[in-house]
Amino acid sequence: MNPTKKVDLLIAGAGLAGCATACAAAQLGLNVALVESRPEGIYGDNRAIALGFGSVLTLNQLGLWSHLSENASQVKHIHVSRQGGMGTVHLNSHLLHLPALGVVIPHKCLQLGMESALRQYGNLRIIRPASVRGLEQKSDSVIAEIEVHDHATEIIHATLVIGADGVNSKIRRMLDIASTIHDYQQNALVSDVDLACPPASGSAYERFLDHGSVAALPLNPKKMSIVWNMPAMEAQAWLESDSSGTVWSKAIERVLPQIAPVRSATPPLGFPLKSLTAQRRISGRALIIGNAACQVHPVGAQGFNLVLDDVNLLFRLWKQAIEHNLDIGDTFLLRSFSIASRDHQQRILRLTDRLAQRLKGDGLLWPWLHGAGMFALDHISGFKTSFLRQTTHITTPSLPGQEGPWSSHRTGEGFSHV
Ligand SMILES: Cc1cc2nc3c(=O)[nH]c(=O)nc-3n(C[C@H](O)[C@H](O)[C@H](O)COP(=O)(O)OP(=O)(O)OC[C@H]3O[C@@H](n4cnc5c(N)ncnc54)[C@H](O)[C@@H]3O)c2cc1C
Repeated sequence: MNPTKKVDLLIAGAGLAGCATACAAAQLGLNVALVESRPEGIYGDNRAIALGFGSVLTLNQLGLWSHLSENASQVKHIHVSRQGGMGTVHLNSHLLHLPALGVVIPHKCLQLGMESALRQYGNLRIIRPASVRGLEQKSDSVIAEIEVHDHATEIIHATLVIGADGVNSKIRRMLDIASTIHDYQQNALVSDVDLACPPASGSAYERFLDHGSVAALPLNPKKMSIVWNMPAMEAQAWLESDSSGTVWSKAIERVLPQIAPVRSATPPLGFPLKSLTAQRRISGRALIIGNAACQVHPVGAQGFNLVLDDVNLLFRLWKQAIEHNLDIGDTFLLRSFSIASRDHQQRILRLTDRLAQRLKGDGLLWPWLHGAGMFALDHISGFKTSFLRQTTHITTPSLPGQEGPWSSHRTGEGFSHV
């Protein structure tokens, strides 16, 4: 057994949430241990992650943006339409006076870029492959038993423990935090397509179908990432079929004619869609973040954006605590985080859940209501601007004691690297 080590922060899980949190803490000079079960050299999958402009500002503040920007494609316009319906909603960056609504970065590049950023910190240690075997809460610390390779054990005393170990979080179970799961009975099929004609630069598309939705996100001028949410049975048939790439390409052209002709498409990769909401975020000197705390349907592309809002909150709280020589695992600080994060998260959860439920196409009135909603969104500019402010994350939740439910509206003034 190795000698006991002391750190300020122990994080379980080095996915997107764990890496972003580790970076925030390391940048503030905290001593961090990051425990990951995945061995070195395995990085992410082929999904593309769309991030709002506010999230780009957060990544920049955390010192991560310079490691990610070369693989980011701008989104300036989003065309939202309904198959067989009238009207298209045009969402444009100039409505918010921003250089872009956001960016798209392949999941693999996000994971790789963040891990390379973490290597610059001498005050951060990544322990992998390893996993947290047990936690014991004390009044001033948490004692964590870490199982490293060959069943060796390491004991770490941490002022604060964060569970960022994904939807099946072991830390959530150890903390006895209950969660609610909803199975949408849908799958997201993800595929990259090469296009014969480049769409207008910076364009993304979202199309609502009778039973599902399909989005095309720019990866480079002639390549887009497709996320097609469809009933689970239909998705299973696609995944099991040995149909050639042409059949799949033609199906994509049929549901998204705006990007046709499709020259080639990679075989789809399936993601079963479930939402998960943890009943609490904190327990003693531990908290959970990312999919461990809240997993949302990808229809609104909000999951990692929400995580970055949380990391932004933690960064601000820790900064204040360090300036005043306070304990970063203090109950009052953790409660402040939990309260500030909750309202914001629930608002986004309600928005994506409503969209996801409607993707099932239930109800005779739905197509009409959806059309009317899209008409309103396109023609009432205040409505559109407020919708965009929320979904681009340029307003972030405020800390207790600050005015109003939202803190500053971030404009990105002086930040021109998107
Ligand atoms: C199809 C699809 C499209 C999406 N598109 C978008 C989008 O456009 N925009 C957006 O913002 N979000 C999007 N999301 C959501 C986004 O992918 C998630 O929010 C994000 O990946 C969550 O990351 P995480 O770190 O919480 O979880 P995970 O990625 O699951 O990471 C958990 C990490 O913990 C590790 N781990 C697990 N158990 C242990 C253990 N016991 N000990 C140590 N380590 C452990 C795992 O190996 C992993 O590295 C999408 C999701 C899907 C499915």
